[in-house]
Amino acid sequence: MSETIAPQRPGGPMADHELFDLRVDQASGDEEGVMTAEGEYLPLGPGESFVMVQNEGGGRDPMIRKPDGSEVPFSEWEPVCEKRVQETLTRLESLPELGHDLALVYAVAVKAAPELSKVDVVISDESEHPVLENTGGYAVHGSKTGTGRPEVVMHANKGLEHYEKLLETRTKSVEVCARKMGLQPEAVDAKTLMRFMALHELGHALDDLTRVRDENDHREKREAEIKSLPVPGYNPVALTRALEPGGKLFDWYKQNQPAIAAAGYSSRGQLIEAQEEAYHALDSEDFPDQFAVQVMHEVGVKQT
Ligand SMILES: [Zn+2]
Repeated sequence: MSETIAPQRPGGPMADHELFDLRVDQASGDEEGVMTAEGEYLPLGPGESFVMVQNEGGGRDPMIRKPDGSEVPFSEWEPVCEKRVQETLTRLESLPELGHDLALVYAVAVKAAPELSKVDVVISDESEHPVLENTGGYAVHGSKTGTGRPEVVMHANKGLEHYEKLLETRTKSVEVCARKMGLQPEAVDAKTLMRFMALHELGHALDDLTRVRDENDHREKREAEIKSLPVPGYNPVALTRALEPGGKLFDWYKQNQPAIAAAGYSSRGQLIEAQEEAYHALDSEDFPDQFAVQVMHEVGVKQT
């Protein structure tokens, strides 16, 4: 038994909380759900209630108060997240060539880690984000997105061709991913690589949501890790670019070649491989790799 409680309208401009219709069970008095101005009905769980909380700017924000007293912004609340998951699945499924695979691994990933329902997935390619030329995607920490939610940008506009190219250019990275999955490098095809890379980026977002939520902790940890690499301060893609003719480290490499060789790196290629190997061993890279491995096994990865 429920009915809509019409918000009070004493006249004057409509207050922000009047954009929400609260539904209450008349018998028990329990709040049952909220109808938004867009006409969307979102059910409340047992003990959950809808509240407007004063913010720093003097306005009021819609929140859901949980039974334990904690408050969740209305925009991050679970039913909204479920809607985001459905929207993301629909968008992924509609993608040419990659749609089926991406939707499949995304669905399994969200099931394995429900926190991922808070992540915004963006479909793009290198024409919009040049960094995507050499990778399958990247994750943005929630502190930098404006919504407070992590974002995962995936290269998925141009089908498998992009991943066929990465198989050729990121051989060391492919080798490390294969090893972590328990596969021979030859067993990793473009589709497997694409699935792994998408899951790896979701793994970064999961790390941000569960282990390094704080912006400063996130930045400090990442900076310290990148400084610990054989060539400090460069991720493998940046190092590859820096060592090319005209790159920032092209002259440095030429001038220091004997010392670099004495340190065990006899060529540019070897130095880049060592950088790639060390990069994948970093805690903030191994966590997403292990998440990807876990989901790949659930989806059914080919074993050799
Ligand atoms: Zn990564």
